[in-house]
Amino acid sequence: MANRPASAPHAAVKPRTRSASGPLRRDPAVRRAELLRSLRDRDEDLALLAHLTAIGVKPLSRYERPLTDPLRSELIALGLSLGVCSRRTEAGGEVEETVFSRHTALIDVYREAFDKQPLRLSPELGRLEGYLFGFPPCCVAAYIDRPYAPNSLSREDQATLFHWACDGCTITPLLLPRYRDALAVVRGA
Ligand SMILES: [Zn+2]
Repeated sequence: MANRPASAPHAAVKPRTRSASGPLRRDPAVRRAELLRSLRDRDEDLALLAHLTAIGVKPLSRYERPLTDPLRSELIALGLSLGVCSRRTEAGGEVEETVFSRHTALIDVYREAFDKQPLRLSPELGRLEGYLFGFPPCCVAAYIDRPYAPNSLSREDQATLFHWACDGCTITPLLLPRYRDALAVVRGA
C-alpha cells in the first residue's frame, strides 16, 4: 500500500492565476462608463435615469417611449431588468413605455397597476408612481394638490431632479447631491 505524505496537495487544488484580460473581464467601472456614454449620446435623461436606478437612488424609472434593442441591451448590461407597458391616451390611442429597475418585483407592481391604464392618473396611482420612482412623499402629495407650486430651489437644482420639490422640502436636499453626482458621472462618462 502506497503511503501518501499528509502534506501532498490535493490534485484538484490548483494555484490561482490571474486570467488574461479580455472583453469579458474589463474593469467594471470602464464598462459602465462606456454604457453610460453610449446611452447619453442618444438621450441624456435616459442615461441619467439608468444610472440613478442602477446605483439605487431611484427604485424604478420610466422611459416614455419604446426602446431600441441596443438601448435595451445597454440597460440590461447596467444590471437593470426591463418591463414594457402600454398606456391609453385621452384621444383613445396607445403608447408604449419602458420601465426599468434592479428589482423585478417592482416592475411587476408597476405593470399590475399601470399596464393598459390611462395616462391620466388618479391621486392614488400618482402616489404609487411617486413611491416606485423614489420621489419624496411630501413632494408627491404637494404636486397632486397643486402641480408646480413655487419652491425655493434654484432652477438648475430643480432641473436636475425628476420630481417637483415641495416648498421647504426636508428630503430633497438629501437627494440633490446624489442627483448632482449622478449627472456629473453621466456627463463625464
Ligand atoms: Zn418634499
